[in-house]
Amino acid sequence: MSGESVRTAAERRSRVQRLKIYIVTGIAGLLILPVILCTAMLVQLGKMNEKLERLTQQLSRLTDTLTNGQQESAQLFEYGQSSSGLNEGKQPVAGQEIVEIQDNSTKDDTAGEAVGITEAARKIYLTFDDGPSCYTEDILNILDRYGVKATFFVLGKENESSKEMIREIQERGHTLGMHSYSHVYSEIYESEESFEADLKKIREYLYDITGEECSLYRFPGGSSNSVSKLDMELFAECLDREGICFFDWNATSGDATSDVLSVDRIVTNVMSGIDNHSTVVVLMHDAADKRTTVEALPIIIERIMELEDTVILPITEETERIQHIRK
Ligand code: ZN
Repeated sequence: MSGESVRTAAERRSRVQRLKIYIVTGIAGLLILPVILCTAMLVQLGKMNEKLERLTQQLSRLTDTLTNGQQESAQLFEYGQSSSGLNEGKQPVAGQEIVEIQDNSTKDDTAGEAVGITEAARKIYLTFDDGPSCYTEDILNILDRYGVKATFFVLGKENESSKEMIREIQERGHTLGMHSYSHVYSEIYESEESFEADLKKIREYLYDITGEECSLYRFPGGSSNSVSKLDMELFAECLDREGICFFDWNATSGDATSDVLSVDRIVTNVMSGIDNHSTVVVLMHDAADKRTTVEALPIIIERIMELEDTVILPITEETERIQHIRK
């Protein structure tokens, strides 16, 4: 009897022991399972978020392309109908020799004409922001016609025709500068990191197309813009660190406005700005809605060529810096 009761007691203990293990395992399972499930859900959510972001970016790019395409085709249609004059040659006017002097200077620095350039009392730098656009080719043809070199501060437009125009700008001897990749002020000027990220994108974009490092920059809205909540000097220092110099302007066509300015207005704006300085950086825009700027360009160049002791040059790193925030 006593032997039996000992066995029964031992069995009971082992049953209790097993029960305890089941209970502990059950509780542990109940605690761990939700944690595993939550982690899996979070990972899944993260992935979905990434996908959503990518889709949103694609959508905004598509919308952008579509809007540009519509604007450009409308402009081209209108342009083709109303203006055949732009592509026709015009007779060079007095002052043309100034441009020829400029060409010679690259061949022989000791030539007497080259001295004429460096000693010219007034140096004028024509600059075009926001391109490439449907008008880049026209602008390039006009500049070629007068033998004038200019500076293009371009954006990161990912379509083939834009890339082709960027190659053209470079091949025809003009200066390429950066004007941000996105041109979205709120993103670029949000923080130092976002500015640097945008800068990296436009730099790589241009390097991929041209095979050359770009070292010139124009801030969207200029260094004196009132949009950035952060001190613009912060972003200027980012450029300093990267060995990039920025240029603002001291004469403007006034074509940044959403209103379409008349050709006369644009010419008057530029010429009155030029009157005041010996180094003049002229702000103009290369954009689908700036047809009158293209029409004003030959007149502006001819008027400048009529000025004494004046040359038109592309910006280089040696150009006297015109910077609104660092006078
Ligand atoms: Zn711009």
